[in-house]
Amino acid sequence: MCRHLAYLGPTTSPAEILLRPAYGLYHQSWSPRLQRYGTVNADGFGFGWFTAGDPEPARYRRAVPIWADENLPDLARVLRTHALLAAVRSATAGTAAGAAAAAPYTGDGWLFSHNGALPGWPGTAGKIAELLDPADLLELETRVDSALVWALLRRRLRAGQEVGDALAATVAEIVQHTDARLNLLVTDGRQIAATTWGDTLFHRLELGRSVLVASEPGDDGPGWTPVPERSVLLATPEAVVVRPLDPTAALREDRVR
Ligand code: GLN
Repeated sequence: MCRHLAYLGPTTSPAEILLRPAYGLYHQSWSPRLQRYGTVNADGFGFGWFTAGDPEPARYRRAVPIWADENLPDLARVLRTHALLAAVRSATAGTAAGAAAAAPYTGDGWLFSHNGALPGWPGTAGKIAELLDPADLLELETRVDSALVWALLRRRLRAGQEVGDALAATVAEIVQHTDARLNLLVTDGRQIAATTWGDTLFHRLELGRSVLVASEPGDDGPGWTPVPERSVLLATPEAVVVRPLDPTAALREDRVR
């Protein structure tokens, strides 16, 4: 289904990250090379980015395919950022359309994207929704499975849980109830955190300089490293750490429930 990526590194333009690479996110919208579910990602797109000195990211999201946005090439060329998260969307059956349904979702200084699905949405999500307070549910930006996943993760981040543990516990509590695919990706502009649970993910680290985490390689150059299925990844330009995602362990000492 969707394809997503996150970047931390020297200040550059979104065009360099999204549009220029031969098989980058732009290209992946009509011709992904490794996508396991769906064919094209034409149900909208979005990117969020951080600028120096501001902890809150900005977002640009559209309901159209990324190639159909006439304003994007100029905008992406002139913006500058050191931290960006972007996604092209292939909507899951039963979910809402529109710009609000395109990642990244945001809140509390985070950008979030979900590559995957809660099968049978929305009928199968009742038990998962019960994990949230009614107030959290009313805050959902749109009726999309990913918005519910983001609400679950955000609740954990707000409670002060470390982001890798929060991601693992979010996946663990969802898969107790449904056979979901949950490749999750977040950044606060300082670190990137991600899970693999059902789809592909790669990272490329230029040690001490930059790191990219992406559903699939944006070019045929060296350095792309696959992330094993069922992992939690934490990445900065200084290090990438990948550990197994064990749902039982993730919930064993869980206090945010
Ligand atoms: N379920 C999410 C959506 O509908 C993500 C879909 C995907 O990964 N293709 O937007």
